[in-house]
Amino acid sequence: MLKLLRKIVTEVRAEPDLESVLKLIVCRIQEGMKTQVCSIYLKDSTNQRLILRASEGLHQKSIGSSLSQYEGVVGLVANRAEPVNTDDIEHHPSYCFIPGTGEERYHSFLGVPIIYQRDVLGVLVIQQFDGRRYKETEESFLVTVSAQLAGIIIQAEATDAVSIAPKQNKSQVDRCFVGVPGAPGIAIGNVVVVSQGAELDAVPEREIEDTRGETSLFEAALEHVRSDIRAASARLAQKLGEEERALFDVYLRMLEDNSIAGEIIKRIGEGSCAQWALSSVILEHTRQFDMMDDPYLKERASDIRDLGRRILTYLQEDGPQAIAFEEGCVLIAEELSPAMLGEIATDKLSGLVSVKGSGNSHAAILARSMGIPTIMGVLDLPYKKLSGRTVVLDGHSGRLYLNPSPELLDIYRAQLKEEREQEAELDGLKNLLAQTSDGVIMPLWVNTGLIADVQRGLDKGAEGIGLYRTEIPFMIRNGFPSEQEQTEIYLRQLQAFSPMPVTMRTLDIGGDKSLSYFPIEEENPFLGWRGVRVTLDHPEIFIVQIRAMLRANESCGNLRIMLPMVTSINEVTESIELIDQAVVELKEEGLKAIRPPIGVMIEVPAALYLTRVFAHQVDFISVGSNDLTQYLLAVDRNNPRVASLYSNFHPAVLQALKFIVKEAQKEQVPVSICGEIAADPAGALLLMGMGYNFLSMNANNLPKIKAVIRASNFEQVKDMLKRVLRLNDSEQIKLEISRSFVAMGLSDFVKDKKLRATK
Ligand code: PEP
Ligand code: MG
Repeated sequence: MLKLLRKIVTEVRAEPDLESVLKLIVCRIQEGMKTQVCSIYLKDSTNQRLILRASEGLHQKSIGSSLSQYEGVVGLVANRAEPVNTDDIEHHPSYCFIPGTGEERYHSFLGVPIIYQRDVLGVLVIQQFDGRRYKETEESFLVTVSAQLAGIIIQAEATDAVSIAPKQNKSQVDRCFVGVPGAPGIAIGNVVVVSQGAELDAVPEREIEDTRGETSLFEAALEHVRSDIRAASARLAQKLGEEERALFDVYLRMLEDNSIAGEIIKRIGEGSCAQWALSSVILEHTRQFDMMDDPYLKERASDIRDLGRRILTYLQEDGPQAIAFEEGCVLIAEELSPAMLGEIATDKLSGLVSVKGSGNSHAAILARSMGIPTIMGVLDLPYKKLSGRTVVLDGHSGRLYLNPSPELLDIYRAQLKEEREQEAELDGLKNLLAQTSDGVIMPLWVNTGLIADVQRGLDKGAEGIGLYRTEIPFMIRNGFPSEQEQTEIYLRQLQAFSPMPVTMRTLDIGGDKSLSYFPIEEENPFLGWRGVRVTLDHPEIFIVQIRAMLRANESCGNLRIMLPMVTSINEVTESIELIDQAVVELKEEGLKAIRPPIGVMIEVPAALYLTRVFAHQVDFISVGSNDLTQYLLAVDRNNPRVASLYSNFHPAVLQALKFIVKEAQKEQVPVSICGEIAADPAGALLLMGMGYNFLSMNANNLPKIKAVIRASNFEQVKDMLKRVLRLNDSEQIKLEISRSFVAMGLSDFVKDKKLRATK
């Protein structure tokens, strides 16, 4: 059975559209399960009716007939979202006969729902003549198949939607794909798809006109691979026998013009770019071999894939930087990474989309700091087919509209204009204090990473840097920066803000932040070698960084050093010892090094309970609420599937944030926050009410936070906090916040437009 399942899944991936996918599924199941009928009913999203979309066994003329979702046993399966297995369908209380299908002949019925992310998409049914109940193993097999097929059906539906419109020149259908909001704002532009690494699956489809030029590119890449193989064969001539060496000839033959290479050149001639022609032909061949039962032939699939990858590597030699970005384009990648954002020219981009990742991934955090509207985790997006298509990207709701209608474009253009006007208005607050109507002042600091963040922070009126993510400059290089290079980088941050404080976090790699030249491969990277754990294991990296910070600080004197991801007190004391060692070394070398204020980040639950212990050892505490939320709720901040469970307003998170302030206050140590909750108007006010000493956030949100603080009254904020802390459900908390905002006259800052109007 498992073999059948694998076969179906592999085969359907090669089918071009939903109709053929469904046909193939019903055929394979009917044949593989030796049953007389297999059918698929899918829900029509407009009227919720269940439509018979494909069947093997029922009369073909009945394809397209439909039932209401409350009709028949099929309706029951969909409604209850659970299987029905019966040997006597005609006597089932929900039985409803659909004329013309020919199903009256079949007595046994097994129907299972097709569910995707809690939504019932339809029903998968098998039927047969004799009145026997399908076995439990058959039932569980059908459930397994259905669970796997749900994702494939969604993908096929999406691909249909994107392929049909341009061919029919129908641009009126607003096809919407939903992801997770990454960075707020609206973008309207043409798509540029970037592929990452020589992955055949990740190559985007692109049409070209210069077929000759593209053919030459392919032939040059092919020639490189041929000579690599010949060289490898010659190199190994002494070590290999005749037989093994013959394998190289097999490889070379596969690359001859009249075989795979010939097919690729033909496809280029039909107008496909070389990379797409290559990947589509190679993938078709590997699928065919993959499906063979013979292990030897199966193995050939990996040979072909390997050859394909080698050619692709040569075709992609210049990497993503080589892509010409037109002004205002929307970049789509399978997985945006901080390193990628550091490498590409982001000034031309109006929006970003990442198929993987979530709203609190570091790529999204960087996008927010750059002010580029971004959507993360659009898992179903058939992104490879979108090059050159016009999209509307709504970074507030995480929606990406394809084929936007003129009406939709008008709505979003108007919103874009309004947002730009609001932004300009907020910029007027630059030189004003973040002070409530009853005189309480909350200093607002900025988070930085790229050098551009520094100027942006100053432009928005930041009063210090609360978090400089030093790993960002490490990520955009090909090797660890030297002490001198680091000194120069840090000096720019310190000088730009001097005499205002600059908090430099020591290297925080691991998790979703990797260095290409220092790969960390782990099963559970967020629970692995991260932050201070790495730097304590590599004091040579840590000391160089600290020395560079101290040297840069010699002329400025505004440095603060902060340690990420601490869990135990020994990590703090050992790090402090290393910092002291660096101070001593530099003094011995004749520099005026001083020990700067040292702080720790509270990011893991263990650290939360040790706040007071840490506070006793350090000069300040800063809460990394992004990680603290992830670890408290056991929700991967990078995973879009659980994005809806990740909430800074979960009661446990709010209680934890309150607890940290109380504990830090017992040691009279200042406590701030540099996670994303500080950049949310409701979060900022709650934190203020709790007693945080300052808030650090991305520069783009700073004016909005200043505006909400200036429009509020501290006594009322404290009352809101009291009410919120009494609640024990995130949704109730959000509702209470919205109500309180409306009551405090802060409706403009309420996200949910419907609630703005309620009193
Ligand atoms: C945090 O975890 O809240 C934080 C500020 O650090 P980062 O987002 O870089 O992990
Ligand atoms: Mg963190």
